Amino acid sequence: MGIRVAKFGGSSLADASQFRKVKEIVLADPRRVYVVPSAPGKRNSSDIKITDMLYQCYALAEREQSYDEVFDRIAQRYMEIVQDLNLDFDIHGLLDEVRKGIGRAKSPDYSASRGEYINGVILANYLGWDFIDAKDVIKFDRQGNFAAEWTNEVLGEELAKHQHAVIPGFYGSFPNGEVRTFSRGGSDISGAVVARAARADLYENWTDVSGFLMADPRIVENPRSIEQLTYRELRELSYMGATVLHEDAIFPVHKAGIPTNIRNTNDPSHPGTMIVAQPSEVSYRHPITGIAGHKDFTLISVEKAMMNAELGFGRRVLQALEDFGVSFEHLPSGIDSMCVVVADKELKQRKDQIIERIRETCQPDSIEASSGLALIATVGYGMVRTRGTAARLFQALYEANVNVRMIDQGSSELNIIVGVDVADFEIALRAIYNAFVNV
Ligand code: ADP
Ligand code: ASP
Ligand code: MG
Repeated sequence: MGIRVAKFGGSSLADASQFRKVKEIVLADPRRVYVVPSAPGKRNSSDIKITDMLYQCYALAEREQSYDEVFDRIAQRYMEIVQDLNLDFDIHGLLDEVRKGIGRAKSPDYSASRGEYINGVILANYLGWDFIDAKDVIKFDRQGNFAAEWTNEVLGEELAKHQHAVIPGFYGSFPNGEVRTFSRGGSDISGAVVARAARADLYENWTDVSGFLMADPRIVENPRSIEQLTYRELRELSYMGATVLHEDAIFPVHKAGIPTNIRNTNDPSHPGTMIVAQPSEVSYRHPITGIAGHKDFTLISVEKAMMNAELGFGRRVLQALEDFGVSFEHLPSGIDSMCVVVADKELKQRKDQIIERIRETCQPDSIEASSGLALIATVGYGMVRTRGTAARLFQALYEANVNVRMIDQGSSELNIIVGVDVADFEIALRAIYNAFVNV
């Protein structure tokens, strides 16, 4: 019998009624033997995630201020879950220990990780399964980088000792035992890492949508669910802002050849999206697979006559970015012009210095930095086989009155990226979706 690892996101475990759904799902298939939970998420749109409240506690503790009021709200949510599920264990003792620990450790990682830790203890109790503390089996090196091979070894050995277990997501530890978290949304990575170490046949990622949707449901109304997606397409989409799965969650499972299935805890009979290693006939059935994008980029445009004949010009432009520790996203260029697209959060306050450096080292005819750019990626293997995809896309943007400020098509022909004004972002995304889906 094959093994399945099931990761449940924050909204899937936001209250007792969600815990009941999770138990039903887990017990419905005996292949589901390891479960990776997140911390309780939002119960409704105005709610606050436990993880966010834990970061607030840390910030107060750091300033030597009382975090009791915030922690009381956290404790209340966990107590409600435990009482409602009729569980018989010392939740008060556990909460007290964590409350004190936050004040003692004064570490953002330790504080935030307790959301998953407490939820993991509760879920293990509710399922009657073993609890494995992620601190002992998910390893980071001294610099705080995830130690994939070390983890795989230690975690694999530990899992082999348990027939069924709950392993909390989001955190692990430094070599000295201190807690270290992944970046936000990192329980997806923990789930993938557990799937690899367990040599699972399938990594199930249970969330609050019926699979990976063709576009962000907060922008496009009721977007279609994607039946099958390759890891490469997924990487393009998640890198560009389709945040349903953490972008680093792809590597451990892809490497091990394990497919990922995105499923909906609130609609368990829906097959969701299957993410696979290689494209197949299904990948070519539709002209595009999905659309994703995000805002806040700056376009640095450098112009100089005969640039293409000047040896080292491109290198000097990029050197200026490197000298200030800034990475770039795209590099569309022409014969006499070169553009560099940089995320605003990378650029920070260094824009003027970088421009000055490029002026000095490249002596361009003109250089200009314009902010307020949003990028949209239209992704899919089907684009290779379908003629006229680009024409359809640009026609849609033209008809929606959207000005295209930049175009970049990856050499793989797997995606077309357009840059538009931030103000046009949502309009452009809907226009592209409608051009390919509602026809
Ligand atoms: P979880 O808490 O289960 O990890 P997340 O909130 O991290 O869930 O991810 C699921 C959310 O991702 C959805 O509720 C949806 O709002 C958002 N999302 C953004 N883009 C997409 C997309 N293309 N398909 C599905 N969901 C998307
Ligand atoms: N609870 C963490 C967060 O909110 C990790 C996760 O949910 O994946 O970022
Ligand atoms: Mg998530």
